[in-house]
Amino acid sequence: MKKIKLVTLAAALLISVSTFSSVGTVFAASTNNKNQTTKVGKSSIPTKYLNEMLTGLKSRSTTLNIFIEPNNPIGIQQDIKWAVNDWSKSTDKVKFKIVNDRNIANVRFTTGQISQLRVAMTFKDQSTTGNQTYIDRATIKIDPANFDKTKISNGGIRVAEHELGHAMGLADIHDTNLKYSTIMWYLDPNTGITQYDRDAIRYLYQIK
Ligand SMILES: [Zn+2]
Repeated sequence: MKKIKLVTLAAALLISVSTFSSVGTVFAASTNNKNQTTKVGKSSIPTKYLNEMLTGLKSRSTTLNIFIEPNNPIGIQQDIKWAVNDWSKSTDKVKFKIVNDRNIANVRFTTGQISQLRVAMTFKDQSTTGNQTYIDRATIKIDPANFDKTKISNGGIRVAEHELGHAMGLADIHDTNLKYSTIMWYLDPNTGITQYDRDAIRYLYQIK
């Protein structure tokens, strides 16, 4: 096995928190796209969008053992647990497990200040086997300054869901056509996990 160790910095989520919507999830994945589509199970996603949603990376393990550092504020911890539960219900290709030992975790949630513009970041430890580069471990840092520290919040949940998307190999989406169609939109998270997100993960983890 050829192994190249490197640590990369995933694109961060840039957020104007004032734009958070507490209203229900917006699904706007309807497209009249006549372009080629990629069959993903019983639904389909336009190939050009699928390509935008993938980074070329995927998690080496299809089980994410998630450790939440105890110094995360209690509200953020609740957001993370909710996000993990949402992803669990969204895919059967990846399993999610919250663990109590950081040494067996491949995804670790930390806390701290990042910058004025960035509210969360995912750092990836990756290596290559054959033609595929895998994410061996991810460290997700959420800046609690932007979220409710004492109780669960919609914004915190969506940010945790977005960063977990990075940990599985999803890209930041800058294409405004996809703005309300994916949790991976790089700015204001006006939507939760969508059909496009479920399709992208299903596609990514069914290819060998
Ligand atoms: Zn991002």
